[in-house]
Amino acid sequence: MPADLRRTYSTRSSTAKSLLPSSPTSELTSPPPTKRKRPFTDRPTEQNTPTKKPRRVLKSDGKVAKSGDKGKSKQPKLTQLHFSLDTPTLRTCPLCDLSYTRGAPDDESLHKAHCARVQRGLEWGKEETREETKGGVEELESNIKLSNGSRGRIICFRPDIGGKIGAKLSLLLETIRLALSSPALSKAVLHKSKIYLFLSSPPGPAPQREKIVGCVVAQRISSAMAIARPSEISAAFPSTHTTSSSSQPAAETLEPATQASPSVNPALSLLPVDDSTNLYVHPTLLPTSMGVPRLFVSSEHRRLGIASRLLSVAAATFIHGCPLNPARGHIAFTQPTGAGKAVLEAWGKGGVRIYEEEANI
Ligand SMILES: [Zn+2]
Repeated sequence: MPADLRRTYSTRSSTAKSLLPSSPTSELTSPPPTKRKRPFTDRPTEQNTPTKKPRRVLKSDGKVAKSGDKGKSKQPKLTQLHFSLDTPTLRTCPLCDLSYTRGAPDDESLHKAHCARVQRGLEWGKEETREETKGGVEELESNIKLSNGSRGRIICFRPDIGGKIGAKLSLLLETIRLALSSPALSKAVLHKSKIYLFLSSPPGPAPQREKIVGCVVAQRISSAMAIARPSEISAAFPSTHTTSSSSQPAAETLEPATQASPSVNPALSLLPVDDSTNLYVHPTLLPTSMGVPRLFVSSEHRRLGIASRLLSVAAATFIHGCPLNPARGHIAFTQPTGAGKAVLEAWGKGGVRIYEEEANI
């Protein structure tokens, strides 16, 4: 008798089809709600079985695809199912790069406001202007002419300024955090920092409201790492950086990289910072005075030289009476994005270094 019971349990648990004939008989004896609840509570295990299968198949197909094409007919069907489950309403805006849930009112309004700030900048209103003197805001450059016809000025203040300017700074830093997908600047980092803003007023006879179109956060630091030159990178990774001329797909270039790195020793002396922009550093920490943990220019005001201008003013004024020179390695950036790397290369003339903002508190 116990052997028969074991057999029925084993058949019920092992095959899903046996649940169908067993459920009508058990519904007569046991209350249906408990039976209906089970599928919901069992969902993790039920979901695991269908999702595990495609994952396994995808992995095996990936391996199989190199040797044979037998699994190719199944592969597209499975990936389509996967995408339809994960991304039904999530959208990434091409203008501001923010990912938000389409159709959710909170997300939509948050995105709309953020997108406008990223493109056109935050407003620097009358109240902020009025508080400049009280807050100890320094105007470092004025009446700057930009190639788009607008005029601007560069101001500087401490992050703990408070008041209307402090509130505006909080909103600006949050906009930058979202735009760069970076973590929030800690209080310890901000405590050692100065804020440089480029304020621009649009062209026209009547004075119009200014906008914050550029921002540099400059942090007092002690050390940073030198960026490896292209020749040093190609010496360290000969196969990966010489194959760029050949028209191989990106997926295939990964293979020579993994094969070459253990055999070539110079690779160990360089630290990768950003693979996508091919950025490597020498791990030796060198004494460095100023770090730039955040650099931001609103998208409609790029290619006007605003970032370079802000950085030059920051370098000249960050330490009183001691102008800093990026070409001499006085200035470092945190891990830069693709656009940020272009700015630091053009402005820094090859002398800009890389540092970690939290390691320099
Ligand atoms: Zn957007």
